[in-house]
Amino acid sequence: MKTDLLSNRHIGIEEKDMEHMLNTIGVKSLDELINQTIPSNIRLKKQVSLPAPMTERLFTEHICRLGAKNKIFTTYIGMGWYDTITPAVIQRNVLENPVWYTSYTPYQSEVSQGRLEALMNFQTVISDLTAMPLANCSLLDEATAAAEAANMMYGLRSREQQKNNANILFVDEKVFPQTLAVINTRAVPQGIVVLTGDYKQFEFTPDVFGCIIQYPNSDGNVEDYRGFTEKAHAAGCKVSVAADILSLALLVPPGEWGADIVFGSTQRLGIPMYYGGPSAAYFATRDEFKRSMPGRIIGWSKDKYGKLCYRMALQTREQHIKREKATSNICTSQALLATMAGFYAVYHGAEGLKNIANRIHQTTTYINKILKKLGYKQQNEQYFDTIRLSLTDQVSASQMRTIAQSKKVNLRYFDNGDVGISIDETTDIHDVNVLLTIFSIAAEKEFAEVTAIPENGSLKESFKRKSTFLTHPVFNQYHTETEMMRYIKRLDRKDISLAHSMISLGSCTMKLNAAAELFPLSNPAFSGIHPFAPEDQVEGYSELIYNLGEYLKQITGFAGVSFQPNSGAAGEYTGLRVIRTYLISRGKGNRSKVLIPASAHGTNPASAVQAGFTPIICACDEFGNVDMNDLRTKAEEHKDDLAALMITYPSTHGIFETEIKEICAIIHSYGAQVYMDGANMNAQVGYTNPGTIGADVCHLNLHKTFAIPHGGGGPGVGPICVAKHLVPFLPEHPFFGSSQNTVSSAPYGSAGVLPITYGYIRMMGIEGLKQATAIAILNANYLAARLKDTYGIVYRGANGFVGHEMILECRNISNETGITENDIAKRLMDYGYHAPTLSFPVHGTLMVEPTESESLAELDNFVDVMLSIYNEIQEVKDGTADKTDNVLVNAPHPEYEVVADNWSHAYSREKAAYPIQSVRDNKFWINVARVDNTLGDRKLLTTRYETFD
Ligand SMILES: *Cc1c(COP(=O)(O)O)cnc(C)c1O
Repeated sequence: MKTDLLSNRHIGIEEKDMEHMLNTIGVKSLDELINQTIPSNIRLKKQVSLPAPMTERLFTEHICRLGAKNKIFTTYIGMGWYDTITPAVIQRNVLENPVWYTSYTPYQSEVSQGRLEALMNFQTVISDLTAMPLANCSLLDEATAAAEAANMMYGLRSREQQKNNANILFVDEKVFPQTLAVINTRAVPQGIVVLTGDYKQFEFTPDVFGCIIQYPNSDGNVEDYRGFTEKAHAAGCKVSVAADILSLALLVPPGEWGADIVFGSTQRLGIPMYYGGPSAAYFATRDEFKRSMPGRIIGWSKDKYGKLCYRMALQTREQHIKREKATSNICTSQALLATMAGFYAVYHGAEGLKNIANRIHQTTTYINKILKKLGYKQQNEQYFDTIRLSLTDQVSASQMRTIAQSKKVNLRYFDNGDVGISIDETTDIHDVNVLLTIFSIAAEKEFAEVTAIPENGSLKESFKRKSTFLTHPVFNQYHTETEMMRYIKRLDRKDISLAHSMISLGSCTMKLNAAAELFPLSNPAFSGIHPFAPEDQVEGYSELIYNLGEYLKQITGFAGVSFQPNSGAAGEYTGLRVIRTYLISRGKGNRSKVLIPASAHGTNPASAVQAGFTPIICACDEFGNVDMNDLRTKAEEHKDDLAALMITYPSTHGIFETEIKEICAIIHSYGAQVYMDGANMNAQVGYTNPGTIGADVCHLNLHKTFAIPHGGGGPGVGPICVAKHLVPFLPEHPFFGSSQNTVSSAPYGSAGVLPITYGYIRMMGIEGLKQATAIAILNANYLAARLKDTYGIVYRGANGFVGHEMILECRNISNETGITENDIAKRLMDYGYHAPTLSFPVHGTLMVEPTESESLAELDNFVDVMLSIYNEIQEVKDGTADKTDNVLVNAPHPEYEVVADNWSHAYSREKAAYPIQSVRDNKFWINVARVDNTLGDRKLLTTRYETFD
């Protein structure tokens, strides 16, 4: 009987579909399929214990009650997070719009032109505000961006510096403490020595290769770094600057005083604080360093008829191609948040941003003036939005805190008793009066209530920005809500998302992101909380995070968890870092080799290198499994310095290898650790787990298995779960007093999206989660059964079944007809589908992962489409269709081509655009023809201003 549990809505297959699907696969029951697929020696003996499932309605009440345990204070803590106003038009049409939040990273540019444009808007904003020619379209957070900057500068050392092993990175003592902590975590295994101190006193020596400074600095001071930067450059050092993006609307941007890299957070461009994240970090650099820049870059290109369009550029330097030689391990970043920040700038324009920045600065100036009168001693000469004060003799820091808290105000409290105030976009005249009241009570002096903030700033002329920014029309056309709403709509119509059709990307688990799971993101009780708010204001978050941690420990069979990593790849890095610290504690710090199967995702070798390890690649056999002989040989060969094995399970081939326990045992027999890449956890949940299998640590991609939407390329959450012996080495955070292995700006990473996973688990319950796993496997096997006689399935498990995904053979087709898997991917767009995973993990193939959320009708439609495409391929093969002018090589067919007066193809328009009936009922009109992959890389153009001519 159908109950009102989420599992009945989340899972696409109904009881009545079962018999047909099982018959097609050739098994009697779902249990039989699971028993044949998941090896018996790793099946859980004891059911995972989770709370009973809540209905959607109960969950909504429950999560609101949890939220109500968070207290929303007016917060002046600053330190990288500032209250901000998310324009309602952006909240409703982007953040809460499944077209934006369920789309995938824009690898298939022809069906991603909307988000590609939005992300190029973001890059343009960053380039303009920093005055740097080249920006990427986001990194995970400010602190990891700092670490990326350190690595990039290290990689860019001159030959001379490399010869002399110049390995010192200077970091000014006035960068945010969490930034310094993450730089330390990331730099040390690279052999980088981090020196901190006062930049004014610093003397460059030949062994320094780079430096990192902050603008304005952690105290709020705006420093004149011109002289320092000149000295650094004279000494052959690169200069990276952490800059407050909003301040650059008023301040001379770092690009105008010689910075080589500028990075920071874009949270205050309309992204809620979310108790620390998600928000997008930005990263900008000089043109000549483009091939060393981490992260994704959007560039201009043209389609095959010469129409201008967008494309993700320089993909050949990314980890999935370069693997251990990649510039970084960044895969998922913060696309949705970058999109929103870009739209914030589109909506406000240059004048709007200047007004916001000016109001903030004028408010700060005024408050500073009054506080001076009240007897507080200022520490800042020049500031934008942040001031640091020493208290008067009348009041202690703890009395100050008590007074402020009684008015529901959070200030920043420095260790030495000083107090900090950061003003933001939301600070109004009422807030100013409350703030001044607090300080006047503490000073035991009167002050007169203010009715308006004088329009006076305090910046010296030499600090004031003179150059223009955001001059492109896109920043000047959409300043009314109607225009903005339509602009957003115009872009989202160009993109395929889950709101249109199944996105069967193997390894990406594009399942349902239920609306009820997403509601908390719009609830100020979750979105409006600063990550450094005192503990008694975050009881709701604490309870949620603690309980979610317990659930994930149960599900993975592990003893500890860290929520800091903001992506799967960041989780890999963190897990390896934890392993390294553990090995050091056991006197095995010399162990430097990590075994990685050849089939691994590109982030695995890239993360291993980032964590200071050397990857050793181990072969796969003809069935796609780890070659046990090669594994043993390589383990033996490197036995003295073997640190770990990184392995994905089920394998990236979608197969449950039966020897997985033995693999773990071999690694352990050499005193090394097993890291499990948990990207394929959707095939394990409830039936087996990494702890039972014998791994020591795994990451989970909450944005795959656990229902956080992909956001067009982020946000992601990649928590790691670890066995007991690794718990003492988990990441900590300077806010809680320790910088051990800190990997994120915020103590709990992207806490703001954890309610989604929490909701998924609370509403599904263990039975629902198990059912999801089983149906994911059922759906993959159903597709395999229906496509095996045409395309063919590349790998199968021991008993002939696939796991939760399967690899479609396209190499024979290519050999016989010249039609490639890429042609098939592009032709799928004409049918309204996003391509499955292309050429990974096996070249010449497509990897399909339907997930449990798709219905039988959708699976059947997908099969019909694949079979229709197969027929089109046969027409090329048997000569019915032209070898060079056919629906496949010309795909996709954009709307402008199909409706044009000229039509010169050897086939009809109808065949191009309406190949089967279901397409007519749900046509997705494509905006551009096939995009030129090389043009945009030969000439890299990354802002809205640039064109090819
Ligand atoms: C998705 C994926 C990753 C990387 O995860 P991100 O969250 O994108 O960083 C790593 N390994 C495998 C097998 C994956 O599918």
